[in-house]
Amino acid sequence: MKELVYDTTLEIHMNNLVSNLNYFKSLLKPTTKIMVMVKAFSYGLGTYDVAKLLEENNVNYLGVANTFEGIELRNAGIKLPIMVMKPEVDSFDLVKEYSLTPTIFSQHALTRLIDSIDNSNPMSISIKIDTGMHRLGFDEGEIPKLLETLNAHPFLKVESVFSHLAAAEDRNEDVFTNQQITQFKTVANLISNNLNYSIDKHILNSTGIVRFNKAQMDMVRLGIGLYGVSTDEITQQELLPASTLKSKIAQIKHIKKGETIGYNRIGIAKKNLIIATIPVGYADGLNRNLSNGNWNMIVNNQKAPIVGNICMDMVMIDITSIDCNVGDEAFIFSEKNSITEMAKCIGTIPYEILTSYSPRVKRVFKY
Ligand SMILES: *Cc1c(COP(=O)(O)O)cnc(C)c1O
Repeated sequence: MKELVYDTTLEIHMNNLVSNLNYFKSLLKPTTKIMVMVKAFSYGLGTYDVAKLLEENNVNYLGVANTFEGIELRNAGIKLPIMVMKPEVDSFDLVKEYSLTPTIFSQHALTRLIDSIDNSNPMSISIKIDTGMHRLGFDEGEIPKLLETLNAHPFLKVESVFSHLAAAEDRNEDVFTNQQITQFKTVANLISNNLNYSIDKHILNSTGIVRFNKAQMDMVRLGIGLYGVSTDEITQQELLPASTLKSKIAQIKHIKKGETIGYNRIGIAKKNLIIATIPVGYADGLNRNLSNGNWNMIVNNQKAPIVGNICMDMVMIDITSIDCNVGDEAFIFSEKNSITEMAKCIGTIPYEILTSYSPRVKRVFKY
């Protein structure tokens, strides 16, 4: 079969990911383990390739959200330990079959696990504690019952106990964050003192590593930082962008003053314009709120504002003052027009931008 051709590509800068990983490593004690979160298609970049790179760079753990994400990695040949953050309660037999480590976040989930797998050989689990996020996890008051159940089922091996910070990036919430850390330590010690083997304790995400470094404990869970984004300005300067989204000019048109561009005639030419049609649309993940001047692509190093409404598969940009031709590259986001700025433009966070580019956008891994 001939190779397929793509005009719109998400280039993943693999060496930049390694550089970002090493930056976070430099903030940690040599003995602190690193779990890297590769959930949601490795924050939109591509599950397997990123996981493989991380395996080659000796991270200790991978983290996914769902059991099927973990299975996909195992089927692709990933051997690293994989923690599943919110395993489907009907999937515990699969979790075991694929040697994944399930996060157990409630007594209900624990009971389902015990009922659904055979107990003839040990199984590693991870316990999640709720210290204020109020999403998933055991409350402090539920720990005695948890310990009782664990003691009655010694084939379950608690590999780690963890919690998640709700506002690590928010200076105004530092008192709350420190409370979360303190409460976590209390609960984690309660659990570990009850077991006759050692367990890993962890609570820090990317921003946590930077801002609450003393709480790194046995492991940290690196996510968005690996992918080149930080809310902390100093950290942001140290990180390299993980990806660039680019396309190619499909057609160029000369528009007369008073004519309109695109659906609903929202894009009105206030003067004679030259516009370029770019073959990327909201079905590729280009948020439609970026329409009508709310975002600039970069063409020939210059800003080219979006004109009119973004279509499903295409978008028009103003190139009146830019020297360019059909086939030239248009950068939807790049170092010059970053996803952090894009997120600000439409009132969201870089996480959502990163994870919104659809599978239709071809991922190209550059080493
Ligand atoms: C996604 C996730 C992380 C990583 O968070 P970042 O803010 O991206 O660093 C850490 N812990 C848990 C439980 C997560 O789900």
